[in-house]
Amino acid sequence: MKLMKVAMYYNNNDVRIEDMPVPDINDDEVLVKVHASGICGSDVMEWYRIKKAPLVLGHEIGGEIVEIGSNVNNFSLGDRVFVSHHVPCNKCSYCLEDKHTLCNTLHSTNFYPGGFAEYIRIPKINVEAGVFKLKEKITYDESVFIEPLACVVRSMRLAEMKAKKNVLVIGSGIAGLLHVKLARFLGAEKIISTDLNDYRLRISKKTGSDYVINAKQDVVKEFKKLNDGNLADFVFLCAGAVPAVKQSLNSVNQGGTIMFFAPTEPGIEIPFPLFDLWNKEVKMVSTYAGAPKDIEEAIYLIKNKKIIVDDLISHRLPLSETQKGFKLVSNAEKSIKVIITPHK
Ligand SMILES: [Zn+2]
Ligand SMILES: [Zn+2]
Repeated sequence: MKLMKVAMYYNNNDVRIEDMPVPDINDDEVLVKVHASGICGSDVMEWYRIKKAPLVLGHEIGGEIVEIGSNVNNFSLGDRVFVSHHVPCNKCSYCLEDKHTLCNTLHSTNFYPGGFAEYIRIPKINVEAGVFKLKEKITYDESVFIEPLACVVRSMRLAEMKAKKNVLVIGSGIAGLLHVKLARFLGAEKIISTDLNDYRLRISKKTGSDYVINAKQDVVKEFKKLNDGNLADFVFLCAGAVPAVKQSLNSVNQGGTIMFFAPTEPGIEIPFPLFDLWNKEVKMVSTYAGAPKDIEEAIYLIKNKKIIVDDLISHRLPLSETQKGFKLVSNAEKSIKVIITPHK
């Protein structure tokens, strides 16, 4: 039995390097050697992750096929791939209505044991619908952005984002920054971002925000000042703190749209100014994860340099330093995208 190293998650401050057998594959599966694995903001949402701990997290990965089942014909040894951990059944009523991210199968599928490992086993359904070959132009580092960008592609699609509109992005972590980049690509007239952290605000400015507001200030007032007295056509909520949610409800213009991209913890209730929102005909939408067509779109955007992602990488760490990576992301101080490289 060959052993490999994995980073086992117990909680945000306890991620241990442990040995596990390299997974065996059956005839319908493939084994992928993980070259890059991104730490996602959702990986450090402790209330969400701790229920299933200990486990190996990691769902933003790029790697290489190193073993292949005898029934698998569409891939070859050495193929460079991005693997989607969640795949839809393409048969249920949600899938047939283009709501793939609500599919039960999508919620229950995953590769094994998780992206913070040297190797992962890709089950049959993922081999059939969730393995995407990387064109030469996409590096392994860039490939970790495919999943998060797919989620943002879906967010903008469901919000029906249009050109020449002004945009408020609340929260400047990786999700917020990718919203800024995609809004710019889609022709936004003005993009204003918020965060509590000045380091992130500086990055947001570099990334394409026209203006940034420190969220300690009165965000609604500051936004209006920067936007000729008007509220926002599109508000993308990319932070789960209660004050951030309140800001999103108060900063939308009449006829505008609020996209709830980031969730609060479950059970949190927030007062809801129904009269104002009703009177202003505000549209409110939410989104969860990304569907296969969002992944295709994300690959297209990265491959063709429509969205540059390299400048969002703040750290590359070996697997042995995964704990440090989790600290960097959960403290949300001087880090943007932290990439774990299990074979370096
Ligand atoms: Zn993610
Ligand atoms: Zn389905």
